[in-house]
Amino acid sequence: MDRIETARDIVSSSTSRLCLDMRFLTRAVLSLKTTVVEGEGMPGCDGSTVAFHAETVLRSFREDPNSVTRDLAHCMLHRILGHDSPDNCPSSDLAEDMLVEYVLDCLDTPHTSVPGREDRMFVCERLFAKAGAPAVDLLSATVEGTSKWQLDLHRRMFVRDDHSVRRPVDVALWSELSQQVMAEVEGFVRDDDGRTSALMRILRIRNRRRYDYRSFLRKFMTRRTTVRESQTEFDPIFYTYGLSRYGNLPLIDSLEQSDSGTVDEFVIAVDTSGSTMRGPVVRFLEEAFDVFRQTGVGRDSNLHVIQCDDMVRSDDVVRSEGDLRRLVSGFELKGGGGTDFRPVFDYVDRLIDEGGFRNLRGLMYFTDGYGTYPSRRPAYDVAFVFCDDRYAEHDVPPWAMRIVVRTEDLMQGGEGSGSAEQDVP
Ligand SMILES: [Zn+2]
Repeated sequence: MDRIETARDIVSSSTSRLCLDMRFLTRAVLSLKTTVVEGEGMPGCDGSTVAFHAETVLRSFREDPNSVTRDLAHCMLHRILGHDSPDNCPSSDLAEDMLVEYVLDCLDTPHTSVPGREDRMFVCERLFAKAGAPAVDLLSATVEGTSKWQLDLHRRMFVRDDHSVRRPVDVALWSELSQQVMAEVEGFVRDDDGRTSALMRILRIRNRRRYDYRSFLRKFMTRRTTVRESQTEFDPIFYTYGLSRYGNLPLIDSLEQSDSGTVDEFVIAVDTSGSTMRGPVVRFLEEAFDVFRQTGVGRDSNLHVIQCDDMVRSDDVVRSEGDLRRLVSGFELKGGGGTDFRPVFDYVDRLIDEGGFRNLRGLMYFTDGYGTYPSRRPAYDVAFVFCDDRYAEHDVPPWAMRIVVRTEDLMQGGEGSGSAEQDVP
């Protein structure tokens, strides 16, 4: 048999072994074609086909029969994780390779394990901790700060394929496949001693949805707690929130109307423990006030801005542009203590009991991180708005909405730039 044929056999049996090893990846594996060309070189995936080089396949298979399966798994995971740019900077390329290799080392299946696992995992875990989360952007920035010899060393440890031949094709298909892998791992993988947890953590980051925070604000502040059957305006945040709050009824947005005679009240709680948050907080308040005014809910209505770290520091009522200007011009983040979300809820509940609020419609909590959540569901709608959370995973109670915004989106301003991310529940 000629050498290309032999290499082809090796690649094809690697495909079967990969499916055997990781059943939850079968559909993804079968969505990639393979081909074998003459000569030597690293494999590369153009988006739909992984091309191997015959001489390299024969040699590396002789040295370690798992290496070809590992290469294929590496290329496929890049696609699952949405790594499809052919012209990354070198540190992003390395960051992507580290994520993929780390996932494979954690999975550690019979046909994909290759020597050097402990060393690779040690390097990754150290850098992930430094970066704050296993995300390409954070990791790439961390990698950039390391010395040149370390970069070269890490490249030798993690690089297995040629990223320059990539083409960003079938992006929607791979996004769907990636969500399907998440669902399968969650639903079917049992007792794996945490081996899939790295994959899941990285997939959750990959599948965070982009979300327009301005449209979120509009919906949150104009919505009536009415329900209807139609799901034509499907919105995952409000849909799941409605399900958790009102049983089997999804929430919908109201028309922009105000019930005549009612006074609407909103609370924006600001977590003041984050010292760098002043700019984003002010922008968020301005945006919220804009919506408050434009949508008509602002007439005779009150917007309370409550500053809190581990206790309530101030409560300002904003009814006019002038109130807002005064508030933000003298705005300083008070406190600086730890974060506890509960005092705001206690304070607001007390005000409701005392008649301080007549028709509190909702509370938005603007924060940059972790805090203690109240254990009981309050009588009003609640949303936690996380700013620059570095892909943290939040244990938001099921009765609250959550949305992630980034400083750069807030600070850019202007229409159409207000994207944010939503954690996939
Ligand atoms: Zn790679």
